[in-house]
Amino acid sequence: MSRPDAPDPRDSLELHALFARLHAGDPEAARQAARELARHPDVVVVSACLLGERVRYDGGDKLDQNVVARTQGRSILPLCPEMLAGLGTPRPAIHFAKGDGAALLEGQGAALAVDEQGRDAGAALLRGAAWAAELAALAGARWAILKERSPSCGLLQIHSARGIAPGRGCFAARLVRAGLVVENEQGQKNQP
Ligand code: SF4
Repeated sequence: MSRPDAPDPRDSLELHALFARLHAGDPEAARQAARELARHPDVVVVSACLLGERVRYDGGDKLDQNVVARTQGRSILPLCPEMLAGLGTPRPAIHFAKGDGAALLEGQGAALAVDEQGRDAGAALLRGAAWAAELAALAGARWAILKERSPSCGLLQIHSARGIAPGRGCFAARLVRAGLVVENEQGQKNQP
């Protein structure tokens, strides 16, 4: 649903510059950017694709004006765990052949994530989720709005071998485990 009253974050040079600092591949610059944000109250992690960054597997974005409106007045930490993992865009889509991101974090073969060419993508998902979670912690974020159904950001649903299935992405699982309040773009939360 369009929200003409909400500004288009793609017009915000400041937000895009922050995204660029976080994702430029310079770990110390990214940590410093996150620490600077921690000086502000009410930091909220937002999946970068929901803010109009073209970081999805297909090279596109998922700009969501309702998410933009919900985050007005907050300090936004725009993160894409799969870009932070160095997967680039466009990239082969990833789904869970077994388990989900929470099971992947547990290890011991409880989950298997593969890309559309059948290659194991679990290590990349774990790497991106860990790095993004570190940045969220450095920024002092207590709240996150993440893109549903992603193998990294999905909160209640993921893509499985049989299609959409209940489950959690790897980054979402890390943030929930760290005690953040996590919502999807529709406002559904990880806790009642
Ligand atoms: Fe990146 Fe998450 Fe958006 Fe996927 S859903 S493109 S991992 S921010």
